[in-house]
This record gives sequence, C-alpha cells and structure tokens, in this order.
Amino acid sequence: MTAGSLSQALQRIEASPTTAMTDRASELRAAGRDIISLSVGEPDFDTPPHVIEAAKAALDAGDTRYTPVTGTARLKAAAARHFKRDLGIAAEPASVVVTAGGKQAIFEALAATVSAGDEVIVPSPWWVSYPQMVRFCGGRVVPLITHAKDGYRFEPGEFEALITPSTNWLLLNSPGNPTGAVYTQSMLRGIGDVLRRHPQVMVLSDDIYAPLSYSGAPHATLAALCPDLADRILTVSGVSKSHAMTGFRIGVATGPDWLIEAMGRLQSNSSGNPASISQAAAVAAFEGPQDFLGQWRETFRQRRDMVVERVNAIAGLSTPAPDGAFYCLIDAAPLMQRFDSDDRKLALHLLEQGVAVVAASAFGGRNGFRISFAASEEVLDEALKRIERALA
Ligand code: PLP
Repeated sequence: MTAGSLSQALQRIEASPTTAMTDRASELRAAGRDIISLSVGEPDFDTPPHVIEAAKAALDAGDTRYTPVTGTARLKAAAARHFKRDLGIAAEPASVVVTAGGKQAIFEALAATVSAGDEVIVPSPWWVSYPQMVRFCGGRVVPLITHAKDGYRFEPGEFEALITPSTNWLLLNSPGNPTGAVYTQSMLRGIGDVLRRHPQVMVLSDDIYAPLSYSGAPHATLAALCPDLADRILTVSGVSKSHAMTGFRIGVATGPDWLIEAMGRLQSNSSGNPASISQAAAVAAFEGPQDFLGQWRETFRQRRDMVVERVNAIAGLSTPAPDGAFYCLIDAAPLMQRFDSDDRKLALHLLEQGVAVVAASAFGGRNGFRISFAASEEVLDEALKRIERALA
C-alpha cells in the first residue's frame, strides 16, 4: 500500500467523457476561441421564475439547515403526486427518495444491490455513466446492442437472450440519451412478459426525460403498465431536464420499500440530505404550473426537425429523427477513414473547427457523434454550418 494508490473500484472507472469534452471546450474558449458547445445535456431555457422565487423564499425563511436525509415531507409528497400525475405510478411519499440529481439515485440503487460478478444488462448506445457505475460496483456490463434502423430499441427476445442466473438489473432509459429512443406501451408490456419469466431481474427505469417525447403519445413507463412487477422496478425522475434545473441537483426515485430504505441508508452515510434550498425549489417545480412544458417540448420538436433535416443533407452524415429527449446520435461511417476509424479523432476535429460534440464511442456506439439540440435555432444553424465545412 502506498499513499495515493487508488481503490480497485475507482481504477475500474474513468471520468465522464461528456464532461471531459465540455471541459476541453471551456479551455479553448478561455484561450479566446469561439466554440459552440453541443456536448452538454441541459436545456438552454431559463429556470422558470416561480421556481427561482421558491428558492429565494426558502433562503429568506431561513430554510438553510439539514433536512431529513431522504428529503422533506413536502417534497416527498410533491414527488409522489408527480409520479402519479405524470407517470401513472401509484407512489406513496414514504416510498420516495430525494437525491442530489437523478444521477445519485441511479448510483445508490446500483451500489446498494450490485455485487462482484452480477450482470447488468445495458442497452447500447447508453448514457455514459451507466457502465461506469456498474463497473465501480464490481458488476459486469452486458451490452444489449440496438441499431439506428430500429430506432435504437431492442426487442423483448433480444433482452431475454442475455439473461442468466447472474443478471440482476436491466437499465432502461426512455426517452433515451443519447439515442432519443422512446419505448411504446406495447414494447414495455413485452419487456414485462420477459421479466415475469425471470424473477431475479430488476429494472431501473430512468424516466428523467419523460416530458420530452415528440410522438404525441402519453409517456409510457413500466411500473405503471405492469403494476404486478412494481416491487422489482425503480423509477427515476427529477427536475433537471424537465424544468431546466440541472444546477439545483434534485432527483427523485420510487420503488420497493427495501430498496428505498437501502438507498437512504447509503445516502445517510455519504452525501446526507439534498440541498434544502433546492428541495424547496423542486416542490415549486412539481406543484406549480406545468403548461410551459408543452411549449418547451414544441420548441425542442422544431429544433429536432431542423437539425435532422440539415444533418441528413450533409454528405457522409445520417441520423434517424429521435422520438424523445434532445440529442441526435449521428452516424458518420462513410467519413471514418479520414479519422483512422476513431470517432474521438472526428470529435476533436470538429472541436478544432469550433463545435464541441461527443464521440459515439463514449456511449458504447461507434463511427459517429452526439449533438444536443438544447440550443437556439441560430446557434444550431451556425454549428451545423461549421460541421458541414469541417467535413467537406
Ligand atoms: N439519466 C440520464 C439518461 C441522463 O442523461 C442524465 C443527465 O445527463 C441523468 C440521468 C442525470 O440527471 P441529473 O442531472 O438529474 O443527475
């Protein structure tokens, strides 16, 4: 043992590549370069004023002390109502845990349940943190590979074929980052049928992008559609993406009591309660007006349509129209020879030409890159011009 030696768990993970790209873009900007960042996943809208007011009011009221570790009674009640109203899940306040962002909820759930040798099925392309978290916990990542031609969605049979006695989770993200994949009610019912045959498998349903679906169909989620499986499903939601509150760091999760208790036990010995001011703001987000969400969704849909059309008009690039969230996963396979078949080189090339994107390989994909369309049409227009020039 020497000072500075890292734990085996830490040695299994690396820093989030999306953050790495954003940091590099900031460095270049600090050096005076004009860089458009399409690498980060956060809405460009201002946090709604009633949320800001609630945060200020909490400060003025002296709401600045420890709260119960897993969240205030008010926020748990508001989150339970949110789960019922927006996701159709019958959640009790006592079965809600409030965390510092959806990220912490996912980490806690895995850290509380995954042991060395456990297998976690992760549809790929995946959100960057899923495999890292699984590896940190000593679990084995089992990729469930999806394809653009299928809208990056898997069939229940493909999922079932990967299940072994060691499988303990499926990580299901709909609408998905980075693919925009949205699972319909019938697809989820098919996944439910598989789960009924394999009682050892739990599902982490990451619904953090729930309001951002462009098909017009109401959001579908497994715990609402298959209530008989509810004791095996953890549903994660929050306010970061839906309410433009990424900096507040509030996530909420609901699931079986034993898991909620275990997550709380971990939280009580690590971060403690989420920030009191942020919790007050999140109550306002869940309980206040929701009508602006429809306007935001419409704005995102228009941007998506513009980006998809423009990308598909650039020689060598193609993307399906994502059904949800605010990302396009762009295929650049015909151009990859120029970049030694390494999409990190492609991403760096685009950065040098003034646009920060994230290589598809960061998400377990290949030969392409992800852009976020959570930026104004003017910014997206300029970014697309730069991408076109850079790849001409
Ligand atoms: N899940 C997915 C799929 C995400 O893309 C993100 C954020 O990028 C999160 C969870 C975490 O969100 P939060 O900022 O609330 O921790």
